[in-house]
Amino acid sequence: MAVYKTPLRDMRFVLDEVFKATEFWQSVPALNEVDRDTVDAILEESAKLNENVIFPLNRSGDEEGAQFNNGVVTTPAGFKEAFRQFGEGGWIGLGADPRWGGAGMPKTVTALTDEILFSANPSFALYPLLGIGAALSMSQHATDEINDLYLPKIYSGEWAGTMCLTEPHAGTDLGIIKTKAVPEADGSYSITGTKIFITGGEHDLAENIIHLVLAKLPDAPAGSKGISLFLVPKFHVKADGSLGERNQVGAGNIEHKMGIKASATCVMNFDGAKGYLIGRINEGLAAMFVMMNYERLSMGIQGLGASEVAYQSAAAYARDRLQGRSATGVKSPEKPADSLLVHPDIRRMLLKTRAHNEAARCFVMYTAKYLDLSKYAEGEVAAAAADRVALLTPVVKAFLSDKGFEGCVDAQQVFGGHGFIREWGMEQLVRDVRIAQIYEGANGIQANDLMGRKVVKNKAAFVKTYVAEMREAAARLNAPETARLKTGFVAAIDRLEALTQRVIELSASNGDEINAAAVDYLHVFGFTSYAYMWALMAEAAVGKKDDSFYADKLALADYFAVRVLPEMEGRARMVEAGATSLMSFSEAYF
Ligand SMILES: Cc1cc2nc3c(=O)[nH]c(=O)nc-3n(C[C@H](O)[C@H](O)[C@H](O)COP(=O)(O)OP(=O)(O)OC[C@H]3O[C@@H](n4cnc5c(N)ncnc54)[C@H](O)[C@@H]3O)c2cc1C
Repeated sequence: MAVYKTPLRDMRFVLDEVFKATEFWQSVPALNEVDRDTVDAILEESAKLNENVIFPLNRSGDEEGAQFNNGVVTTPAGFKEAFRQFGEGGWIGLGADPRWGGAGMPKTVTALTDEILFSANPSFALYPLLGIGAALSMSQHATDEINDLYLPKIYSGEWAGTMCLTEPHAGTDLGIIKTKAVPEADGSYSITGTKIFITGGEHDLAENIIHLVLAKLPDAPAGSKGISLFLVPKFHVKADGSLGERNQVGAGNIEHKMGIKASATCVMNFDGAKGYLIGRINEGLAAMFVMMNYERLSMGIQGLGASEVAYQSAAAYARDRLQGRSATGVKSPEKPADSLLVHPDIRRMLLKTRAHNEAARCFVMYTAKYLDLSKYAEGEVAAAAADRVALLTPVVKAFLSDKGFEGCVDAQQVFGGHGFIREWGMEQLVRDVRIAQIYEGANGIQANDLMGRKVVKNKAAFVKTYVAEMREAAARLNAPETARLKTGFVAAIDRLEALTQRVIELSASNGDEINAAAVDYLHVFGFTSYAYMWALMAEAAVGKKDDSFYADKLALADYFAVRVLPEMEGRARMVEAGATSLMSFSEAYF
């Protein structure tokens, strides 16, 4: 079985020593009531609930899966009770506005509880997550009347939410969706169409499900400029919040899929369902992006959460498993063989995964800090923070899910053949985490967003301020223990800066250069950002001698610099190879 213990000490290190969270919250008037002791209690409670209630349902949920029977979807045993406990405990509303029953905690807190939840059970995590995302989009674009009626019920877990974008012929390209919205005399809309792959489209966890649906009015302009957003409840909601008749929306089936089997992925049929416009006509994509950006950060966290469990399980296995002898002399003569940990290659896989995971946690917190500033600060500070979030969101989504998958596969490899059979839980981790690279915009699309909209389009304006900040951090790295990290970090920044310029220049004369460079560029960006995170963590660890914790941090920072970061150079050279190497093949060749 996979094992998981919430890495609370590492989380506190990032929160208190790297990001000095209390000072940060004090510096933002809207956050200065966030109390560090309360946050600690939240982390401890989250750890308890997830380790004791939600994690044990991960394996059984995978075995049983979500079931479809004549339009009714049932979740695996235990999910309903756990969801109720999760909602009643206030976990769905942890980051929500107190006006709607939330606890008003900043992202710098909920990013950590999200990680714990994704480590515990990714299938389960998606049910509350979709509701939180839908509520977030509504809170910014729906009327007060709608929000006051719906949001408290979503945050309490009485109702759930979904995001209905994808259609059989329209995935990445939402401009070609066919779902129709016809205006009715009472101001509502009649929604007709089929959506596929809808996470939590139908289930038995909540008494109502609130669908946010993209659709087109009959006279809408073609393409993405003609998309509007509608709220379609499974059951009609009366003015006093009680439930009325069933709306004309239901699940046609659920998908049978590689992983996250306990998450119901539904085909949803809207057959003249009553819907309500959210935001403005033809501006639905912008409103939906609030939800999608939230979910994208979460999909990066999904990668980290899985990789953390993978690391912990593989490290425990490697300690116990006896195979072969150390190449430098027997280490455990009293035993028939030495532990796997004597072999450098086993250590390579474990240390790489751990170095990625710790950098990923720090990078999520870094992004969360800018999310908090964009939401709670004002003026230029908030605007600059929003730009930073825009730049980093595709990197968090794609790099963390790519590295999360890699971590799970490496951990599986540590188990040898035992990683391939079900008993040890490694194959489930690999199957479950794979989707994070695909949904919420496939990672290639994230890379295109980074390269095209966030880098080339604004002539690297966002990248320049990020690079300047990284150079300042590199200049502060002056301890002997951080010398190799400093060298690698500075080289990475130089490489990122030069490649950014090169792609901007090349793309001026050849439109294919952006997409040709995108994925490898995102990885260069990701590695450089992880080097930055290790620089921040090393800075926080230098000179502290309480126990081996800080010395271990510095050792892993150094390991990252010399044995992980060099992989970036291959990606950089692939960016340099340009588009011609790809596009010179004729279509017939494929
Ligand atoms: C388990 C699961 C849960 C999901 N949950 C939801 C949900 O809750 N709500 C929802 O609406 N959808 C959901 N989806 C759908 C998911 O978001 C899409 O599958 C995903 O965005 C990709 O769309 P697609 O599958 O149509 O692939 P396509 O759009 O056909 O893309 C195929 C490949 O082509 C690449 N590609 C496409 N266009 C371009 C381009 N212009 N430039 C470069 N490369 C391109 C993509 O990167 C991808 O690799 C879910 C999917 C799954 C499998």
